[in-house]
Amino acid sequence: MVNVVLAADLGGTNLRIAAVDSVGTILHLAKRPVPKGVSPEQLIELVREMAAECGSFDAVACSAPAPAAKEFDGVLTKLPNLPSLVGMNLKAALDDLFHLPVTIENDATAAGIGEDWIGASQNVSTSVCVTLGTGIGGGIIINGEPLRGLDGTGGEVGHICVEPDGRPCGCGGHGCIEQYASGTAIERMASEAGMNVTTAAQVYEAWAADDKQAKAVFNTMGRYLGIMLAGLANTLNPEMFVICGGVTQGWDAFAPRVKAEILARAYPAAAACQTRSRQTRRQRRPARSRTFRLSTPIIVNKN
Ligand SMILES: [Zn+2]
Repeated sequence: MVNVVLAADLGGTNLRIAAVDSVGTILHLAKRPVPKGVSPEQLIELVREMAAECGSFDAVACSAPAPAAKEFDGVLTKLPNLPSLVGMNLKAALDDLFHLPVTIENDATAAGIGEDWIGASQNVSTSVCVTLGTGIGGGIIINGEPLRGLDGTGGEVGHICVEPDGRPCGCGGHGCIEQYASGTAIERMASEAGMNVTTAAQVYEAWAADDKQAKAVFNTMGRYLGIMLAGLANTLNPEMFVICGGVTQGWDAFAPRVKAEILARAYPAAAACQTRSRQTRRQRRPARSRTFRLSTPIIVNKN
């Protein structure tokens, strides 16, 4: 029986590792930056160091920003945001390191499973979790089960096209939402507009200080994100959207445009959305929820 899992989340910017018990309690959590151009050997050394802080565990689960095929052999084939790890057999490397059962999962699918298990969407059966970070991922839960599609690449909402002749994307396509609404895209659009910034957080700070260019960037970002969510609302008619990832720290900068686009583009029943933060949801404050009819709640998880 598995009592404690070593859960690792490999992101384009950070590696997070936690010891988690069977009811989801985080016993220990560590976070370190992933060096630019990290090699497979450097990554495994980082995992080894961080795992040593986590005490004992019986199994290992690792999520990565890559499609995880149904019969996943553990080789990372497509990694738009971590190209230096393409070709790495992550499962074999973790097998060798720990000699324990190892599971590899797409990161956004893992987020969707987690929200469905003990998170925001635990009381609904059909939900879409959208992770806004270095890139954009999606975890689609249908009737309590993750949607993986034919070969495991289901749920890759970050590569939904919102601009047919738009910017080239790391996936090989053009105009994907990831190029307009991820943290990387926010920073890039701001730099292109002449702002002197190196992170999306700095663009948000400028927005909070009433900067005109920052407002335009978040307006553009919110418009594209709303277009994507309206399409998902019409396609899947989920009971809930859960928006998570670092970019949600700036939710108030783009939420109005997101909601306006959904209302303008989705079928009326799906579009009548309500936004609540998890904290607000728990506390049942009615003030924010009065402005929208409840149909497809958007839960923003800033944790
Ligand atoms: Zn793409």
